[in-house]
Amino acid sequence: MPADPTSLPPPAWRPPSTEIVDARQKVIDAIARAAKKSGRKAEDVVLVAVTKSASDQQVCDLVTLGHQDFAENRVQHLLPRVELVAEYLKNNPNVKTAPGSPRWHMIGHLQRNKVRQVVPAVALVHSVDTLRLAEEIHSLGQKLDRVFDVLIQVNASEEPNKFGVAAPAVLHLAEQLDTMTYLRVRGLMTMAAFSDNPEDARPAFARTADLYHDVRARKIGGDHFNLLSMGMSGDFEVAIEEGANIVRVGRALFESGAAPTA
Ligand SMILES: *Cc1c(COP(=O)(O)O)cnc(C)c1O
Repeated sequence: MPADPTSLPPPAWRPPSTEIVDARQKVIDAIARAAKKSGRKAEDVVLVAVTKSASDQQVCDLVTLGHQDFAENRVQHLLPRVELVAEYLKNNPNVKTAPGSPRWHMIGHLQRNKVRQVVPAVALVHSVDTLRLAEEIHSLGQKLDRVFDVLIQVNASEEPNKFGVAAPAVLHLAEQLDTMTYLRVRGLMTMAAFSDNPEDARPAFARTADLYHDVRARKIGGDHFNLLSMGMSGDFEVAIEEGANIVRVGRALFESGAAPTA
């Protein structure tokens, strides 16, 4: 039987490994270069560390480094990780975190029957792709008297097997979400089709950015509609050039040899 990650104590404090310090710095530098290329600043882009390929130790190293944003794409991995980090911080009061940090993001497909477990544990759900899922989150918000922040996931590459709302349906869904008192529609998220060439992702990112600006121009979601989550290890620089202000990076942080080259 596989070990239950929730039953394991978090790793003891250690100075963060040089591998992870270096990998994170490389990603941060690449973000800064891409942001500058599109006339923005590095601080305008949030680096979300996707921990699905990380060890517990690597996650805790990032927490020790003061990293703020973390994500998982599967419920059964997210909840133990949230607990792990909370426990690690409780055991190590010397580890300093910014107020409200660390923040967790749910970036994968979310089933309605998991909403109650997941949504209160995260700062942002990136993957709302149906009205029914939004209604479920809204009704939990009403019950708990909390407002939940969400992004609409767009299927911009139009692959039949991908989750996400088809581009022509995005405006209408955004309007519907905007009427829900206990839900704040904060922006859009997309995933490009897998490819070895980051340029292949550019059209899907550009399409999603167009939709994002369209929603903003119509003032749907008001001033809160200001997040555009696009780009992973293989394509985050292109995503930033196309306007992303949240990138979701896993392998480049946690797999040695996968970091972007200067
Ligand atoms: C895994 C995952 C990522 C990160 O992918 P990497 O290639 O490891 O950077 C980003 N977004 C989503 C939705 C994911 O599932």
